[in-house]
Amino acid sequence: MDFIHALEQNDLNALRSVPKADLHCHAYFSTHLESVERWLGRSIEEAPPLMRGLDGMIEYAAEHLDPHINNRAGYEFVVESAVKDAINDGVAVLKMSFDIRSSWHFERGVSEFCDFVQQLRCRNAPGVDLRPELGIPRAIVGQAPAENQISEALSTGTCSQRLTVRRPRGWMNRPG
Ligand SMILES: [Zn+2]
Repeated sequence: MDFIHALEQNDLNALRSVPKADLHCHAYFSTHLESVERWLGRSIEEAPPLMRGLDGMIEYAAEHLDPHINNRAGYEFVVESAVKDAINDGVAVLKMSFDIRSSWHFERGVSEFCDFVQQLRCRNAPGVDLRPELGIPRAIVGQAPAENQISEALSTGTCSQRLTVRRPRGWMNRPG
């Protein structure tokens, strides 16, 4: 079955079997909620079917996701699980962005964060061609500590860079 026909038929299994590229996803938001629930051993309120824009999404994440997964263990689980989900969905090329602020979870900072991303990439090849991008929120561009972290991360060659959209106030404490 070809891709168009599979789409028309809403045939998820057929859609999975077609190799695809996902050229834009955010590591922190890319796994299935059920996987997070299984890992946590508790349920999490589902996102509303219609969100009030980016602010609504941030509010949902702050209230229902961050308390459980905005930490080192949660972040590592979500990211690994997201890559596995992509492989299961037949994604062959995966451009996933890793927010520079996620490096704050790692004791040794940027170098440990980049090692983690690099190992993730190796572990999951050749199942998927993971092409990491460094998520750089405009809100932190020009700020000295963040700029140094960005330079350090880019100098490792692990990630290419992606500028993300301007974030409203309050976003800074959460990795995307
Ligand atoms: Zn995006």
